[in-house]
Amino acid sequence: MAAIELTGLSTVYPNGVRAVDDLDLSIDDGEFFALLGPSGCGKTTLLRTIAGLERSSSGTISLGGGDVTRTDVGKRGVAMVFQDYALFPHMTVAQNIAYPLRVRRASKQAQQDAASTTSAGLGLAELLERRPAQLSGGQQQRVALARAIAMEAQVLLLDEPLSNLDARLRLEARTFLKRLQRELGLTTVFVTHDQAEALALADRIAVMADGRIRQLGTPKDVFQRP
Ligand code: ADP
Ligand code: ADP
Repeated sequence: MAAIELTGLSTVYPNGVRAVDDLDLSIDDGEFFALLGPSGCGKTTLLRTIAGLERSSSGTISLGGGDVTRTDVGKRGVAMVFQDYALFPHMTVAQNIAYPLRVRRASKQAQQDAASTTSAGLGLAELLERRPAQLSGGQQQRVALARAIAMEAQVLLLDEPLSNLDARLRLEARTFLKRLQRELGLTTVFVTHDQAEALALADRIAVMADGRIRQLGTPKDVFQRP
């Protein structure tokens, strides 16, 4: 079954910009899917529309076989990591990561487990008691990723999730994301500018232009020179 099924999806902003334009896309359960394309082609808007943070103007969105086109954000079973992290400044790293579990009233033990598992996987174990202001950009980015993973959503939407990491950390984060895909069967859609990253992570790649998908295939298909 498709984890994400988009049919005739359009998102038009109030100013008339048609950021997503009559787009059809089907993403398999457990797939690692990359969105590539020039700045302004609609990648972020597409992710935000799937998450329910932007309202679609027409078309339908199904997640795991259920129509969520009119479902509120928070009830769609997706976790999104934004480019600007949006951490809670007054909470520690551990509290930020565990926040989605606290909202769900998970046990203290479950909150601690989530914080320690995801922080270990992302190299944050030493930073659990710090606050966001005491972290570098790359560290904040990893906390945001850890928090999204802790939501235990079936679908993870990532907007340039590794853009602020140095080469070594990026490699570690990639390995961790691939492990989550393998072990949890997580479906991941991620936006990147980095072709090497798409090659390293993606099962399939869509190249967008002007709100549409211009190319779709495996990394080999997409990067093969004609
Ligand atoms: P990308 O992520 O590929 O850079 P975006 O989804 O951010 O593309 O933007 C797609 C188009 O929508 C661009 O033309 C952009 O200027 C426009 N856009 C993005 N956000 C808004 C908004 N809040 N209001 C109006 N237009 C927007
Ligand atoms: P509030 O504004 O009520 O304090 P939040 O802004 O923290 O709540 O979150 C609103 C809803 O969005 C909640 O249901 C929360 O679980 C969900 N949410 C928060 N962060 C994310 C995220 N990164 N991705 C997806 N959903 C999120």
